[in-house]
Amino acid sequence: MKLPDNFYFSQSNLQDYVDCPYRFYLRYFLQLKWPALVVDDALAFERRGQIGARFHHLIQQYLHGVPDNRISNLAGADPEPELAAWWEDFLQFVAPMVVGQRYVEAALSTSLGGHRLLAKFDLVLLRADRSLDIFDWKTSRRVPREALLLQRLQTRLYRLILAEAGQDLAGGQPLNPDQITMHYWYASQPDNPVSLPYSLDAFRSDRVYLGELVSEIAARSETRFGRTEDHDKCRYCVYRSHCDRGKQAGDFDAFEDVEIDPQDFGLDIEFDQIAEIAF
Ligand code: SF4
Repeated sequence: MKLPDNFYFSQSNLQDYVDCPYRFYLRYFLQLKWPALVVDDALAFERRGQIGARFHHLIQQYLHGVPDNRISNLAGADPEPELAAWWEDFLQFVAPMVVGQRYVEAALSTSLGGHRLLAKFDLVLLRADRSLDIFDWKTSRRVPREALLLQRLQTRLYRLILAEAGQDLAGGQPLNPDQITMHYWYASQPDNPVSLPYSLDAFRSDRVYLGELVSEIAARSETRFGRTEDHDKCRYCVYRSHCDRGKQAGDFDAFEDVEIDPQDFGLDIEFDQIAEIAF
C-alpha cells in the first residue's frame, strides 16, 4: 500500500509518525476515523477547542483590518469570559508587534526528496527591513520550554518551508534563513512570546532531518509501522482500545501537561484544496 499521490506531509501527520508510526499508519494509510475519546471530559475538551477556534477567528478578522472596537464587542459578547480577556491581552501585547505586510492563514508548500511538505501559517509578516516573522497563536495553558519548541516538528517544518518557498511573500527576492523568526504567542503568557530566530545551520539541519524522515515514511513497508514503546503516547490517542493500550480516555485536567493544544484536533487541512502555493 502506498500513500496517495496527492499526499502532503504536514506538522500534524509528521508528529503522528514521530509519536507512533502505527498511529500514522492507522490514520493516513487505513484512514481509520476516531473510534474513542481523546480525553475523559468530552464536553470540556470540545468547549476548549471551540473557544480557541473563536479566538483564532477574532484574530483573523483583526489582521484583515476589521476595527478593534467591533471585535472587542464580539469578544465581550462571547459566553466565555476567558475569550474577552485573551482578546484584551492580544490588543495590548501583540497588535503593536504585527506591523508590516500581513499574510493571514497563508499556506505554502515545498518539495523535499520528491515528497511534498505543507505548512499553514496563522500569520506571516513581512517587515520593512524584509525580515519575515511567523506567528502562531496558542490557547493551551502550558507554555513549553524553548528547547522543546525548537525541536517541535511545527517549528522545524514551518521555518524550513518559509525559507524554501516564501520568496514570493518577500517580493520575489531569494530568502536567507536568518531573515526568518518564528513566534509562539500563548494566551496564558501574553507578555512573553517565545521567539525563535532561524539560521543557515538550523535550515541545513532541518533539511537533512525532514528529508530523511519523509523518505523513511514513504519507503516503509506496510507491516513495519510499529506501535510506540512509550505508553504515555497512548494516553491521549484515540486508537488505544484498538491497540489494547487502555480503554479509559486521558484525564482532561492533565491534558495541558502533555503540551497538546485542543485546537490541533479536528482541524486537519483539506490538502486537495490547497494549490502548490496558495495564500
Ligand atoms: S494507542 Fe498507542 S500504540 Fe496505538 S496507535 Fe495510539 S499511540 Fe500508537
